[in-house]
Amino acid sequence: MKDNTEINKLNETVIKGGYCVGCGVCATVKNSPFEVKFDEFAKLQATIKEGASLEDDVEVLKLCPFSDESENEDEIGKGLFGDTNVKHDKLGYINSTYAGHVDEESFRDNGSSGGMGSWVLTELLRQNLVDGIIHVKPSEGDVLFKYTISRTTEEISQGSSSRYYPIEMSEVISLIKEKAGRYAIVGLPCFIKSIRLLAKQDAVINERIKFCIGLVCGHLKSAHFGSMWGWQLGVHPDDLEKINFRHKLDNNNASKYGVSVLSKDDDNEIISPPLNELYGANWGWGFFKYQACDYCDDVVGETADISIGDAWLPEYVKDSKGTNVIVVRDKTISRLIEKARVEKKLHFDEITPEKVVQSQSSGFNHRREGLAYRLQLKDKNNEWRPEKRVSPNADHLSKKIQLRQELRMDLANQSHVAFQEALKNGQFSLFKNRMNSIVKVYEQTYKITLLRKVFNRLKKTLNKI
Ligand SMILES: Cc1cc2nc3c(=O)[nH]c(=O)nc-3n(C[C@H](O)[C@H](O)[C@H](O)COP(=O)(O)OP(=O)(O)OC[C@H]3O[C@@H](n4cnc5c(N)ncnc54)[C@H](O)[C@@H]3O)c2cc1C
Ligand code: SF4
Ligand code: SF4
Repeated sequence: MKDNTEINKLNETVIKGGYCVGCGVCATVKNSPFEVKFDEFAKLQATIKEGASLEDDVEVLKLCPFSDESENEDEIGKGLFGDTNVKHDKLGYINSTYAGHVDEESFRDNGSSGGMGSWVLTELLRQNLVDGIIHVKPSEGDVLFKYTISRTTEEISQGSSSRYYPIEMSEVISLIKEKAGRYAIVGLPCFIKSIRLLAKQDAVINERIKFCIGLVCGHLKSAHFGSMWGWQLGVHPDDLEKINFRHKLDNNNASKYGVSVLSKDDDNEIISPPLNELYGANWGWGFFKYQACDYCDDVVGETADISIGDAWLPEYVKDSKGTNVIVVRDKTISRLIEKARVEKKLHFDEITPEKVVQSQSSGFNHRREGLAYRLQLKDKNNEWRPEKRVSPNADHLSKKIQLRQELRMDLANQSHVAFQEALKNGQFSLFKNRMNSIVKVYEQTYKITLLRKVFNRLKKTLNKI
């Protein structure tokens, strides 16, 4: 038995270790034994096809975003933008940074945030810079969403909004290989990294993918995230036909959005109240998170030509219509943006890179200070984990914040199991009760911090007297 093949290594480290994000790139290589399938917890994961051999010499390690043999975001970014852009330690090689929204047509109304995602895709098509857009749209059949190619502005518009749902790229990569053309692809940071890695190995992909549009990313969810909302709105997971994860609600802060769902046997869309009035809205709890996301250090998509997220900043969040943060790296996209600003199609303010970081402060805390601690835990237990740009450490965190990090991992792990149990028993309350036992302890770690904050403030005031 040959156990030193790349296939075997990827399987033993990334896949069995739980670091696979299901991007599907390893399944696209000739003779690859991998396919991407839903696991028992409704996450897409690479797995060995039935009867396939692990002994073939198929090169996959340089393609996987979580393998130790692939280039990291700094190396990829330097190769792409190192000659023209300035390096920022959290945003990669940057050209310009903005906050704002689209002031043209219905991009903003239809988008999750300020509508920039669909606008930049549409503009690339309108300016004849690409022939097709690869993005994630609602799908009929077994899955609610999948990667699809749009070739008209109407088709692009049908893809607006954020899909907090498992997706993979192997099928769409085969389509790009089959049909010549110039494409732009939208993806989460690790998906864009996979595409950049694939383009280094595959001349056809390198030639055809002209632009990579990155979405800022907190973490990816299993398909049960959507089921959790539907179930609370009276639609059993088996009957969930459609979901919009970002339904804007007038007269609320942009962060207080709802979801809308459609049941298979009812034509009436159900719109939720702000999600904080339902159970499970706190992203910090990390319900249904992929484990890979706890070992990721790219928040904004550092290898993308442009990164697009939400401006979670006090000066913008009050506007329920939504505002984007934007990091531009590619010169062509930069020119499109500047022209559209002059034509008043984009209402953009230039902001500092630090403001962009501030807009994602929780994401950066989790994937810098928090990640260092999680890496240290893995090393202490002598378990394999991917090489990261963050060094393992525990000393920088108080015991309480270390506990918070461990509880976050527990919350994510238990959410998968507890939801499955709730499904088996047909009772959503089982999920809620089981999760609440950890949530309560987790929330205590914040309460103590708040007390300490009050105490510190009091101390400061007393010192001034
Ligand atoms: C899993 C996930 C986590 C996110 N986490 C954060 C976060 O922590 N902080 C933050 O500021 N922003 C985050 N975002 C990005 C945010 O939700 C918006 O997508 C972004 O602000 C763009 O909004 P828009 O109105 O400009 O784009 P829109 O006009 O709504 O266009 C969005 C485009 O992205 C495509 N798309 C949607 N979902 C996916 C997907 N899963 N994979 C690939 N393409 C997709 C759509 O097809 C569409 O073309 C996340 C997005 C996702 C999918
Ligand atoms: S992360 Fe992507 S490339 Fe790596 S094992 Fe999973 S599907 Fe394959
Ligand atoms: S958190 Fe990181 S690993 Fe997880 S989906 Fe987002 S970019 Fe990928």
